[in-house]
Amino acid sequence: MNYQPVIGLEVHVQLKTDTKIFCGCSTQFGSEPNSQTCPVCLGLPGALPVLNKKVVEFAIKAGLSTNCSITPRSIFARKNYFYPDLPKGYQISQFEDPICQQGWLDIQVEGAELKRIGITRIHMEEDAGKLVHGDVSGLDDGSGVDLNRACTPLLEVVSEPDLRSSDEAVFYLKKLHQIVTWLGICDGNMEEGSFRCDANVSVMPIGSGTFGTRAEIKNVNSFKFVKQAIEYEIQRQIDLIEDGGTVVQETRLFDPNSGKTRSMRSKEEAHDYRYFPDPDLVPLVIGDDWVERTRQGLPELPEKRRLRFVTELGLPEYDAEVLTASRALAEYFEAGVEAYGNPKLVANWVMGEITRAINDSGTSIENCPVAPSQLADLLKMIDSGTISGKIAKTVFDGMWQSGKAPQAIVEEQGLVQVSDSTHIESIISEIMTANSGQVEEYRGGKEKVFGFFVGQVMKASRGKANPTVVNELLLKMLNG
Ligand SMILES: [Zn+2]
Repeated sequence: MNYQPVIGLEVHVQLKTDTKIFCGCSTQFGSEPNSQTCPVCLGLPGALPVLNKKVVEFAIKAGLSTNCSITPRSIFARKNYFYPDLPKGYQISQFEDPICQQGWLDIQVEGAELKRIGITRIHMEEDAGKLVHGDVSGLDDGSGVDLNRACTPLLEVVSEPDLRSSDEAVFYLKKLHQIVTWLGICDGNMEEGSFRCDANVSVMPIGSGTFGTRAEIKNVNSFKFVKQAIEYEIQRQIDLIEDGGTVVQETRLFDPNSGKTRSMRSKEEAHDYRYFPDPDLVPLVIGDDWVERTRQGLPELPEKRRLRFVTELGLPEYDAEVLTASRALAEYFEAGVEAYGNPKLVANWVMGEITRAINDSGTSIENCPVAPSQLADLLKMIDSGTISGKIAKTVFDGMWQSGKAPQAIVEEQGLVQVSDSTHIESIISEIMTANSGQVEEYRGGKEKVFGFFVGQVMKASRGKANPTVVNELLLKMLNG
C-alpha cells in the first residue's frame, strides 16, 4: 500500500524585543544565569505582569505579513503545568481568541505547483526558563534553573495540516523564517533557539480522506533536522502499520546524532493544561487604526520585492530569488542600482564577487566593507576605460581589505588600464620576436594560437592592457 504523509508545523518565534513580554528585564542571550530576572519573571507571589506593547506590535506585523486577520479583542490565558523551569506553575499564553487567525503562505517546491498552506493561528506567549544539568557551579553533578529566558516573548505560529512532504515542510519553514527576519521581529538564530519548530506527523493510505494518528516531534532547531526528523517519522509509522501495528498519539524527540525520533511521553501522560483566562491581564483590544498604522509601516516583503526585481528591473527569476534571500542583501543591491544603473551588472557583482568575499571572510552583508556607492564607482571606472574588467577584481579585493575608494586603490597600485597603442605595439613586437614559432603557426592557419598571444600580452602588461586595443593590434600585426 502507498501512504500519504500529513504534516502540520507549530513554530516558536522568539521576538527581538529589548525587554521581556511581561516585565522590564533584558532579553540579552548568554548572560550570567538568573542575572536578568525580577519578581515577575521569577513568578514570586503578588507580582503582576504588564504587557510589553512592542510584542503586540511585532505580533500584528507577523499576522499582516502572513495574511492573517487581527483579532480585535484577544485574551491571555494561563496554561497550567508544573515543571521547575516555570516557577509560577503556569505559562501565560493565548488559547481562545489568539491575536492572529486564518492566514496563509504560498510555497513552491522546485518543479511543483504553487501551493497555499493555511495558518490556523498565531498567538503570543512567554517562554519558560532553562534547566541546566551537570555543569552547575558549586554542585557536583547537580541541576540548576536559569530563569533568564523565562518570560521572553514568543509567537507560536500554527499551520494547518496542509503539508504533504518533508520538502514542503522545509519550504514553508524557510519562508516563515525569511519573513520574520525580514520584518526584523526575530533574529532567526536557530542554534540559539530563536526559531524552532514542533512537527505533527501522520500517514494515511493514498486516497483516504481520514488522517492517521499523529505523533508530535518536539523542538527541532534546524532545517536539516526538520527534514530528517519528518522523513524518519514517516517511515517509522509506515513500517509500524505494515507490520500490523498501530501508531499511538505521543510526543517524540528527535536525536540529531542517530537521525531517529524516540518516544518522550504518551497521550496518557500528556498534560491537562486547564486553560483559563488570566485574571491578571485585561483583554487586549486592538483598534483598526493601530492595525492600519502597522500595515502602512510594513516593509516591502520578499515576495513582492522579488517580483518587482523581475518586472521592473528585468532581472532573471534566479537572480531575483538570490538577491531577496535577506532584506539587507536586497537593500544593498538596490542601493547599488540607484548609484550605478544597469541592474543585471550590479546583480552579477553582488551575487559574484561580493557574495564570495562575504563567504570567504565569514562576515555578513550588513558588515560589508565595500559600500554600494563604492561598488558603483568601481563599475564606472570600468565603463570609462580607466581599468579593465579583470583588473576591477583586483581593485575590488583591495577595497575589501582596506575599505578605501576604488580610485585610491588604482592610484596606489598603478592599475590604470593601458590603452596607448604605441606602448601596446612595442609589447606585441617583443612577444612576436620571442615566439616566432607560434607566429608561423598562426600565419599557417592555426587560429587558435591567437589566444596564446592575447594571454602573453596581458601577462606582460600585468593585466593592465586594454583588451579591446590588444585584440585589434594583435590582429593587425599578426596578419601584417
Ligand atoms: Zn523580569
